[in-house]
Amino acid sequence: MNTLKTGILQCLELLTWTKNIVITTHQNPDGDAIGSALGFYHLAKRMGINVHIINTSPTPSNLQFLPSAKLIHIYNPEIDNTYINNADAIFILDLNSSKRLQYMEEIILNSPAKKILIDHHQNPTIVSDIVVVNTSACSTCELIYQIVRESGEIINEEIATSLYTGIMTDTGSFRYSRTTSEVFRIAGDLVDCGANPVYIAERVFNSSEFNRTVLLGKALGSLQLYYDGKLSVMTVTASDFLQTLALEEDTEGFVQHTLTIAGVVMGILFVELPNSNFIKVSIRSKGDIKANSLASEFNGGGHLNASATRIYNLSLEESKASIINKAEFYLN
Ligand code: 5GP
Ligand code: MN
Repeated sequence: MNTLKTGILQCLELLTWTKNIVITTHQNPDGDAIGSALGFYHLAKRMGINVHIINTSPTPSNLQFLPSAKLIHIYNPEIDNTYINNADAIFILDLNSSKRLQYMEEIILNSPAKKILIDHHQNPTIVSDIVVVNTSACSTCELIYQIVRESGEIINEEIATSLYTGIMTDTGSFRYSRTTSEVFRIAGDLVDCGANPVYIAERVFNSSEFNRTVLLGKALGSLQLYYDGKLSVMTVTASDFLQTLALEEDTEGFVQHTLTIAGVVMGILFVELPNSNFIKVSIRSKGDIKANSLASEFNGGGHLNASATRIYNLSLEESKASIINKAEFYLN
């Protein structure tokens, strides 16, 4: 039996006896992180298990419509350490490095609970009791879908809506390279089970606050091309945030715009947040241009075509100079 199938069966065996579980995902969660956490939450609920989803960052406003999103805890040690330490199992979703659990890293890794990693990123480094990892999967939601289908539980509207959302967002609305015919079959099945693609796309993509769109305007205005137009660079400054009153989460999706220019094969977004000691860097690329290798030179990582890192204790201009300089090597 392949290791993925083994992991899925071990995960289902675990769910036959666990009474209390915790689900968590990465900082600055995206549609796949929240969708997979809620899809798995609703599966576990159907199985009669007590579940808490505990994250370090708030759920972005355009994902708050997801069923039970309001029940997600923002980690509070006084309340949540008890859940974490008393859980039978902790499900760690959509991340490959425990660093991305931020200030929950230690308590999660030290909890006596069984750890189950469910993820689709390259090079998972989290030590866990059960591993459900497939780096060819388009999303963590695709893996949760396989777990639900293997479980024999029905896919209700809550599960379908959550999983469809993560598949839609992590494939860039069915445009990125892992959008296989199987992904369309899964999406079709989820629609048959109650996911409404028009409603979901409307909530995720067409529900911005005005100030987010104004911030996007500033970001688009900042675009600059390097290396014969192969690299495009977008910058959001602390002053942009202060002028628009927009938040960090409002920049979700901005980096995609760097790749919309003909001839560009790599795009980098630099985000300088007010009152923070790091610069957030998101890197996107086309084809076999290695966005993850560039990020890993700066202690980050991710997928071949989508990676990120944070640069501590350098100014915005210093961070840009350093990364743009290194990027040249990866463009050919
Ligand atoms: P984003 O640009 O959307 O924040 O992140 C893109 C991808 O890069 C994520 O899906 C994740 O795989 C990866 N990533 C983001 N931040 C980090 C980080 O700090 N470390 C590592 N190893 N990967 C990251
Ligand atoms: Mn994902």
